[in-house]
Amino acid sequence: MRHSVFSCSLILLCLSFPAAAEWGPVEVIGRTIAPGEALRFPFIPDRSFEASFLNMPVFVARGSKAGPTLCLTAGVHGDELNGVEIARRAFTATDPKTLRGTLIALPAINAEGVRTGNRNLSDRRDLNRAFPGRSGGSVAAVIANAVFSNIVMLCDALVDLHTASNNRANLPQIRADLSDPEVKQLAIHFGIGIVVRGSGPDGSLRRETVKAGIPAIIYEAGQPLRFEEAEIDRGVQGARNVMAYLGMTGDPELETPDTRVYERSRWVRAGLGEGGFFFPTASLGDHVSAGDMLGIVVDPFTDAETEVVSPVTGEVIGMAVSQPVLSGFALFHVAWKD
Ligand SMILES: [Zn+2]
Repeated sequence: MRHSVFSCSLILLCLSFPAAAEWGPVEVIGRTIAPGEALRFPFIPDRSFEASFLNMPVFVARGSKAGPTLCLTAGVHGDELNGVEIARRAFTATDPKTLRGTLIALPAINAEGVRTGNRNLSDRRDLNRAFPGRSGGSVAAVIANAVFSNIVMLCDALVDLHTASNNRANLPQIRADLSDPEVKQLAIHFGIGIVVRGSGPDGSLRRETVKAGIPAIIYEAGQPLRFEEAEIDRGVQGARNVMAYLGMTGDPELETPDTRVYERSRWVRAGLGEGGFFFPTASLGDHVSAGDMLGIVVDPFTDAETEVVSPVTGEVIGMAVSQPVLSGFALFHVAWKD
C-alpha cells in the first residue's frame, strides 16, 4: 500500500508504507485483519453458479509491525501445482506476530483449473492473458479485474508462481523485466541463482503489474500436474528471501546472491518433417556449446533418426519430457548472457 511515509531498504528497492504509529488493521475485500492476525477466507462468500469462478482462497497475514505488502500469486494456470503449494507453505510458515508488513497469498487464482488439473478456464481462455481485466467482459476478464483491482493494487511487490506447461519442465528460474531496476533487484534477491530477461506477454499478471508501477517477477520451476519437493522447497525459500530483502522478517540483510543473468534465450525445435519419438540426452541445467547434441528424435515408422543440436552456447533452462513430437515442437530452451 502506497502511503506518505517513505522508507528505503539498503539497495534500490524503495517502498512507502504507514509508520509504526499509524499501523493498524488492514481491510481486504471487506474482511478486516488485525495486526498479528492471519486469516484464510474465500474471495466471495456466494454460492451462485457463476460465483464459483471467483471463489478462490485468499490468505492474509497482517504483521504486528509496520512494513510493505508482499503478494504471492499462484494457480493462474490451474495445472501448475508447484506454485500453489509454494504459496500455501510460504504463508503457513509466516508468523504474523513477528512479521513486519503484510503477506497476501492467492494460491489458486484459477481455482477451477486447480481442482480439475486444467491450465485454462472452463471457457478455454488463458487467464494469464486477461489482466488487468474488466468488469463487464468474459469470465477471464472478470476474474482478472477482481484480482487486479482488489488485491494487486494493495501490493508493494508481487511474485507470481508458475511451472512449465504441457509435458515440459523448467529449471528453477526467475523471469523478470530487467530494464526496471526495482524488478531486477527483486529478481536477484529471490536467490534462485538464475534470472532470465523477459517482460512477459501482454495481459499476463506479471507484465500488467509492472506496468501499474508495482515490481513483479515470475518464479518458474518444474512440470505441471505434479508436486516436486525440490522445486517447492526452493520456491518457499525464495519467498522467504524476498520477505527478508523487503525488511519483512527482521532477518539480517542478505548478501546479494550469486546470479547468472541471461539476457537472451531461444527454443530449439523439432525440424520440418522430423517428428517422431523424442529422447533427450541433455538435462536441465546442462551448459552446452553450439553444435552439441541435446537429444534424438526417432521416426518409429521409418526408423530414421535425427539429432537435436544446440545452435547456441548456453544453459538448458527448459525442456520437453520424452514424448512423441511433431515438426516445430519446442524441445529445449537454452539461455545465454549475450
Ligand atoms: Zn504458467
